[in-house]
Amino acid sequence: MSKALFLDRDGTLVVDTHYLHKPEDLQLIAGIGDALRIAVKSGYLLFLFTNQSGIGRGFYTLEDAEHCNQCMVEMLGFSENPFTEICIAPETPEDAPVYRKPSPRFILEMCDKYDLNPDFCWMVGDKLCDIKAGLNGGIRAAFVRSGKASDGEPTDFLEEYSIPTFDTLVSFVDELTG
Ligand SMILES: [Mg+2]
Repeated sequence: MSKALFLDRDGTLVVDTHYLHKPEDLQLIAGIGDALRIAVKSGYLLFLFTNQSGIGRGFYTLEDAEHCNQCMVEMLGFSENPFTEICIAPETPEDAPVYRKPSPRFILEMCDKYDLNPDFCWMVGDKLCDIKAGLNGGIRAAFVRSGKASDGEPTDFLEEYSIPTFDTLVSFVDELTG
């Protein structure tokens, strides 16, 4: 069985600039490229799992989001896409959820497809929906404080479910692999 990291994008890998969809607005969170390389070297498969309601709202297209992801991969210093699979959930909160976090559907499908061991899989993100998707999917979850501070930290929930919190994905990977 394999181990894996399911990673949120906005606020976790790149700075969350509301409805990010232009490559020129991409800003990597410091140290993320190296952290991902360490995770891969330590045997973790990487999955990108991102809610993009801007698609459902008609602000930008799936192709825009895919192009942004491709540019991000290049900025991270990878010559090839390091993500085993990428899930871009286009639904708005008002739509019936399909893949949109906190739906665990993508996680469950990947666990099955790649024979992942849930005990060694993590969903990492900066919002409560990321944490809930991980827990709903039966894997572990970690919260990073690199997202929008204005949204606040869901402290009560994190405490209730003993969710570990980190400044960024870099410190998470340090602890995971250190
Ligand atoms: Mg996020």
